[in-house]
Amino acid sequence: MKPFTYQRPADPADAAELLLAQPDAVVLAGGTNLVDLMKLGVLQPGSLVDVSGFTSDRIEHRADGGVLIGAGVRNADLAGDLGVRQRFPVLAEALLAGASGQLRSMATTGGNLLQRTRCAYFQDVSKPCNKREPGSGCAAITGQHRDLGVIGTSDKCVATHPSDMAVALAALDAVVHLRRADGEQVGVPLSEFYLAPGDTPERETIVDRGDLVTGVELPPAPAGARMRYHKVRDRASFAFAVVSVAAVVVRAADGTLADVRIALGGVAPMPWRARVAEAALRGQRPEPAVLRAAAQAEFAAARPLPDNAFKVDLAIDLITATIADLGGLPR
Ligand SMILES: Cc1cc2nc3c(=O)[nH]c(=O)nc-3n(C[C@H](O)[C@H](O)[C@H](O)COP(=O)(O)OP(=O)(O)OC[C@H]3O[C@@H](n4cnc5c(N)ncnc54)[C@H](O)[C@@H]3O)c2cc1C
Repeated sequence: MKPFTYQRPADPADAAELLLAQPDAVVLAGGTNLVDLMKLGVLQPGSLVDVSGFTSDRIEHRADGGVLIGAGVRNADLAGDLGVRQRFPVLAEALLAGASGQLRSMATTGGNLLQRTRCAYFQDVSKPCNKREPGSGCAAITGQHRDLGVIGTSDKCVATHPSDMAVALAALDAVVHLRRADGEQVGVPLSEFYLAPGDTPERETIVDRGDLVTGVELPPAPAGARMRYHKVRDRASFAFAVVSVAAVVVRAADGTLADVRIALGGVAPMPWRARVAEAALRGQRPEPAVLRAAAQAEFAAARPLPDNAFKVDLAIDLITATIADLGGLPR
């Protein structure tokens, strides 16, 4: 492993200064993803800038029902928070579906959002990967891609974003709070936080050098909302999503769907908000045929590879079953 220094700035301004002054410095939070990638040689930072000394680890519930989650809040604490479990159960379910108890006790909200893909070629420095080494090619497209993306991908990269938490946050219309390197505080909707891979898959989010994620804000959940996270994986625990769905549904008195929000994991380079399906379902009765047609419409733009085309059918089944459950009709 390449030698590196460890720095523990006292405040965000110091951290930004260190990050700007040292082009090979990176932010360290819980380290559960970063340190693994260093051990694999995927990342070789010259310095780790530990932000845990000043990053908020508070969960602030607001009178209007919204919540502000500090970037330093551990995944285990967020999953166990009573207000989150009562008002945003889809978030608690997604967190508990991720990793293991030990990892959730270290992993932070900011680090979870910014964790890197689990694509085997990204993690293997002996193989080409446009995300790790721009211009080197994508070995996954002709190689082992069973676990990789089917929608929103590009000819340069088919990696998926691995976070369960971020999928729930997408369905909850979360806003990411960022401190820009120059000190400006901005709120960025999660839907604009992740970038499509296009020709530059190495650029995954709008976070620039010196920027810090400071928190995540959830607006109040819609009145009467029912919500759920369903994760399909190869093992019952300690496994990333093959496909997952986070759904938030409000049913009108006449049984139609007054509001539907659907986000998917395991299928795209970012938590995938299924806006085509949502638009097709709003105002409709959640009959199985209607649900299936809406989910199929979402995947009209899919570009699956030979070994992961099954994910399209799986996602359609998962959306159909989850909205049917939440909408109150038998499957
Ligand atoms: C064996 C294993 C299984 C796992 N299974 C799952 C799973 O099933 N589902 C799932 O969702 N996750 C899973 N994970 C991933 C885990 O959730 C992440 O590793 C964790 O959330 C990362 O958080 P961290 O605080 O440790 O981040 P770190 O590793 O410290 O950082 C991750 C990245 O975020 C950047 N960063 C961190 N904080 C900030 C900040 N405030 N501002 C700017 N940049 C920042 C770092 O520079 C780094 O690039 C698994 C991990 C392991 C090792």
